[in-house]
Amino acid sequence: MDRKPPLCTLCRSRPSIYHRRYSGERLCARCFAKTLRERVERTIARFKMFEYDSRIAVAVSGGKDSLNLLHLLHEIEEKFPKAELIAISIDEGIEGYRDEALRFASEACRRLGVEHHITSFKELYGFTLDEIAERNIGEVTTCTYCGVLRRRALNTAAREVGADRLATAHNLDDMAQTALLNLLRGDLRRMRLMHPAGFSLEGFVRRVKPYCEIPERESTLLAYIRGIGFQTKPCPYAEEAMRSDIRRFLNYMEARRPGTKFIVYRTALRIIESLGAVEETVGGVCKLCGEPTTGEICRVCQLLGELEKR
Ligand code: SF4
Ligand code: ZN
Ligand code: ZN
Repeated sequence: MDRKPPLCTLCRSRPSIYHRRYSGERLCARCFAKTLRERVERTIARFKMFEYDSRIAVAVSGGKDSLNLLHLLHEIEEKFPKAELIAISIDEGIEGYRDEALRFASEACRRLGVEHHITSFKELYGFTLDEIAERNIGEVTTCTYCGVLRRRALNTAAREVGADRLATAHNLDDMAQTALLNLLRGDLRRMRLMHPAGFSLEGFVRRVKPYCEIPERESTLLAYIRGIGFQTKPCPYAEEAMRSDIRRFLNYMEARRPGTKFIVYRTALRIIESLGAVEETVGGVCKLCGEPTTGEICRVCQLLGELEKR
């Protein structure tokens, strides 16, 4: 028997293509895309992420989340003629992986007419991630090197383009995973750093996460609906066992109890907000590179120092 899909809960005229289990809505493609854009706009407003004349650097990796965010911010920005958008990408130097992703990023920027800056690990640190992985025989994973060095590289690149905001495309799944990861490691300092509104501190471009309430599954669907080409190949170093376990656990719980990821994320926000200002966690500047840090030597210099010994 030929069964027609139910009509969209919102417009009641077009057939639904997606069942949003955590809200009970059934949505047509157009209403689905509209709700995601409105959610990003609400997140920006709620956390007062931008000024009307902000110069916003968007971190674009070439994956679905960052390309969707770039497109959404490009549309939202049209309402704010004094605001500016610049895309920044970090080339970690992962052969056969990042080079492909960067092609998607460059192509999207070209089509949207957005300025695009690419900074590489090789220029900044003297090593590609592939070279780091080859030298790295210690206990620190390649992902740890990548994460720490990319975080610094994004800040450096955003500063260089004169941005006053750095928007990253962490999605709801990333946020819920990071919250549980930090809880399981007992790391409340890092928990504070995940706040979507970011924080203002000398030397740091304020980092905001306007995409933090978009579930990964919906992000993939949005990219397909809008015909946005993105990289699907996994990184050859994807190895963070603990995060993968948490991802599987959260997906399992979400399937059994829709809305679990939102609950974890919102509870983490309440914990962070009860902990007080994040500025208190960063004390001085690194003796070697002069960047802000909690200790005497920053994590970037510590990791690079380890490599030099090998
Ligand atoms: Fe970097 Fe690890 Fe992500 Fe690959 S999986 S891009 S190495 S953090
Ligand atoms: Zn509809
Ligand atoms: Zn340093």
